[in-house]
Amino acid sequence: MTNKDLANIIFPHITKTIADYEKMYPKRNLEEGACVTRFAPSPTGFVHIGNFLSCLIDYVIAKNTNGIFYVRNEDTDQKREVENAIQIIHDVMSFYDMKPNEYQKGDTVVGKYGPYIQSERKEIYQAFIKHLVEIGRAYPCFATKEELEELRSAQEKIKARTGYYGRYARYRNLSIEEAVKKIEAGEKYVIRFKSMGDFEKKFKFMDEVRGLLYLPENDEDFVIMKSEDGLPTYHFAHLVDDALMHTTHVVRGEEWLSSVPKHVELFATFDYPLPKYIHIPLILKQDGDIKRKISKRKDPEASMQYYEEAGYPKEAVIESLMTIANSNYEQWHTEYPEKNYLDFIFDPKKMSATGGALYDIEKLNNISKNVIAKMTKEELKEASYEWACKYNSDLKEIIERDPKYYMSILNIERESTKPRKDITTYADILNHIWYMYDDLFLKEVPYEFMKITDKAEIKHIASIYIEKYYHPSDNQDEWFGKIKTLCDELGYASNMKEYKQNPEKFKGNVADISTVLRVALTKRAQTPDLYEIMQVLGEKKIKERFARL
Ligand code: GLU
Repeated sequence: MTNKDLANIIFPHITKTIADYEKMYPKRNLEEGACVTRFAPSPTGFVHIGNFLSCLIDYVIAKNTNGIFYVRNEDTDQKREVENAIQIIHDVMSFYDMKPNEYQKGDTVVGKYGPYIQSERKEIYQAFIKHLVEIGRAYPCFATKEELEELRSAQEKIKARTGYYGRYARYRNLSIEEAVKKIEAGEKYVIRFKSMGDFEKKFKFMDEVRGLLYLPENDEDFVIMKSEDGLPTYHFAHLVDDALMHTTHVVRGEEWLSSVPKHVELFATFDYPLPKYIHIPLILKQDGDIKRKISKRKDPEASMQYYEEAGYPKEAVIESLMTIANSNYEQWHTEYPEKNYLDFIFDPKKMSATGGALYDIEKLNNISKNVIAKMTKEELKEASYEWACKYNSDLKEIIERDPKYYMSILNIERESTKPRKDITTYADILNHIWYMYDDLFLKEVPYEFMKITDKAEIKHIASIYIEKYYHPSDNQDEWFGKIKTLCDELGYASNMKEYKQNPEKFKGNVADISTVLRVALTKRAQTPDLYEIMQVLGEKKIKERFARL
């Protein structure tokens, strides 16, 4: 009996050869320097921020080089329903306006290198595994769980490196006849790769982020095909898919760095060119005094869903992640604020290689405030409305009531050289504008009067102001001039310098008067520009609000 016989017994249904597949998936016809990248998420129904960072980098690299960015769903480990999870991944990408060149979703397959869902590629993987069995570079292993546990504790006892390698690889040298007998007897088995590596030897590996590394050769006979479903392990699917889909750059988490020797041996065995690897750092969060891995279980911000729901503008989230991706992004963005992030040339050397990458929500908040500050009133209205339709029915109703009025509120201190920066998210908008709506203003919210709290004095200030000084068509200077005159009339200092020199001469100062008017109209001591607020409120509302004091 030969290896070929063994291969036919294990894979009687596999008739295509690897040469057939190489023909089916020829080299891509791309211009010089064009990179092929892929986002390869496991469809878990959850898009982790770390995975999304790799997706973003993949996308930027492909865009930078006029290349191809495709999505491949890695569902070889999934026992759960996958369809909906794939939709979730696409929803997140489309929220961020990322359009893959190739992908598969439902019945739609876009691209010539599919299927792009691993569980639908079983036959392809098996053809490659069959080939390895034929040439004696893969074999069935019948080790039971207990056997493997025994092996592990024996190795631990003598302080040997754990794993299935060398003399510990019990089924590596089983005769073909014995293997066939076991298969025919219905014994369960996995297929293992037969490694030719030597752990004592090091080879050079170029990691695009870390530079040149010296790694020990792989000598493990690792599993390439699982017993329960005949699907490959990650390592083997990575080889087959990235070779046949002609991926040039693999962007993935640094937890895969230790598996590189396995991948290098696999690619070499098939004589396929090794893709370039960009191993991205773990995303950390500050937790009290320590920095720790952002956790799917503990931290809502580990999920990309969180940022959308919380109402962060997509531009802000992208910007915050780009600052993690490349240390020079922030400076570039300051220099070219009008440019799209896709114009930025990603350089893996400018990515943090050790110690993880801190994702700071405070920083995101700041970025987000700036992004919102730069939007026009129309843009902010559109974006916040889209968000409100999904996540906040109160805001939705407020906008629909009178979109023009909403926009004029948003326009207060906007579209100027120093726009207001108090709004962090779309979810935050109502907190800053509620008092512009009578029904919300009239709710039981206390007035935040500050220095002047005497009711009679407050009423007096407001009534003198409205009777003698308020005029709806005053410009800002005229308006302020009148506030000052009001101060003089009522014994408050209109000039802060004079007030500071002789505070006892005055009842208070112009700031105190403005605060009274501000709080009377908004209930809040802190608001954007009072003149603009009054312009938007209009004469009728102003008079009504003063009358309520
Ligand atoms: N499915 C793998 C993961 O989610 C992908 C790693 C890779 O990009 O190769 O970690």
